[in-house]
Amino acid sequence: MSDIKHADKSKEGLLKIEWAKKHMPVLRSIEEDFRLHQPLKDVTIAVSIHLEAKTAYFCMVLAAGGADVYVTGSNPLSTQDDVASALVTKGINVFAWYNATATEYINHLKSVLDSSPEIIIDDGGDLVNLIHSEYQHLLKNIKGGCEETTTGILRLKALDSIDELHLPMMLVNDAKSKHLFDNRYGTGQSVWDAINHTTNLIVASKTVVVAGYGWCGKGVAMRAKGLGANVVITEIDAIKAVEAKMDGFSVLPMKRAAEIGDVFITVTGCKDVIPYSVMLMMKDSAILCNAGHFNVEIAMDELESKKISKTPVRKNIKAYLLENNKTIHVLAQGRLVNLAAGDGHPVEIMDMSFSLQALCANYINNHKLTKGIYNVPEEVDQEVAIRKLSSMEIEIDQLTEDQKKYLNLQD
Ligand code: NAD
Ligand code: SAH
Repeated sequence: MSDIKHADKSKEGLLKIEWAKKHMPVLRSIEEDFRLHQPLKDVTIAVSIHLEAKTAYFCMVLAAGGADVYVTGSNPLSTQDDVASALVTKGINVFAWYNATATEYINHLKSVLDSSPEIIIDDGGDLVNLIHSEYQHLLKNIKGGCEETTTGILRLKALDSIDELHLPMMLVNDAKSKHLFDNRYGTGQSVWDAINHTTNLIVASKTVVVAGYGWCGKGVAMRAKGLGANVVITEIDAIKAVEAKMDGFSVLPMKRAAEIGDVFITVTGCKDVIPYSVMLMMKDSAILCNAGHFNVEIAMDELESKKISKTPVRKNIKAYLLENNKTIHVLAQGRLVNLAAGDGHPVEIMDMSFSLQALCANYINNHKLTKGIYNVPEEVDQEVAIRKLSSMEIEIDQLTEDQKKYLNLQD
């Protein structure tokens, strides 16, 4: 069962999936094991993650392990219709299309939940939210779920702290093999892939303001520096601000950064990081984009209501004329720029993130977990890194028995 648009585009989609698979050796090794041992036989899995080629191959790996997979996107602008249609030809149940309205987006989430899943894989908490509101009857059947991103984990922790989380959820984002690579190097590269492709402008010589020096912000700032930008960080956490300064960046409050920035990138998970009052302080033609979870980091609603006019100037770029007669350019409607105006993280990065997801789904299936939040077990986290090293043909040293004793380590 599926509900997609452009079923005729499967050929292009299949090529994209083949390319991704070719560069995902870790997930391929898991596919081999899954195919052989069928650890997910007849387990129904509901997935809500950006629906593009890497996610498609991840779904195929779950299916190779015996699972019945139902998938939708986690953002209406990141679904690729050709990939969705290719995935249907592989026997996966797909409910998604590019640019779905808010109602269609919710209906797609509902369609995957109508499969009565035993495991859910969520990106940002939309599936969990729906299960706790309209789909509570599913709770007794769900063995557990995995959460892909930082903001989703904040939402889970908030629910858990008031004892309102009624299923076991594994904090995949917090595993080392996830955020150290995906959030840092993945966001670091894919945000610039998207900005450069969308604007076709040079980065060297520009002043780039990065709001938030967390895992994603560090990556975005590091790559901006590599491209020759003068990088300014804004923060609200004193430790992170000192870290940014020690890493060689300028640190300023947003109001002062606004006056000198050419490009602004928000990656905080917070809201109103760039309110309208700050936009009025910016230089004419400043470029604004967001890579954090929700489209509220740049105050888009306020901008929409107070702008003088809005004009599309290039694919995924809108020029907003402000009351002070200056224009600012917003990329991808203030949504995650790397996914709404690009293909998201590089393939090799999602190879690690999705391998972790596959191993966590297997872990949940093999353990009776009670409701609450769970860190990814250390051995599962390590397994991804071990498989990744092996795929790169890199060997590392092993502790001798004597060294283990010296370090007080048990076997
Ligand atoms: P993080 O918690 O490591 O970092 C967030 C940083 O933002 C923190 O240092 C915090 O102090 C700072 N911050 C919070 N409010 C701020 C404000 N008003 N002004 C300035 N700084 C502020 O989180 P992270 O893993 O870097 O994730 C950041 C966001 O990006 C989350 O919403 C996450 O879901 C999302 N994310 C996006 C992608 C992507 O592909 N675009 C990938 C991973 C995570
Ligand atoms: N629901 C959110 C999604 C959060 S985006 C939204 O409104 O858009 C952040 C997550 O996207 C990250 O944790 C990262 O692992 C994931 N991601 C980044 N690139 C991706 C890709 N190419 N395919 C699938 N997921 C990707």
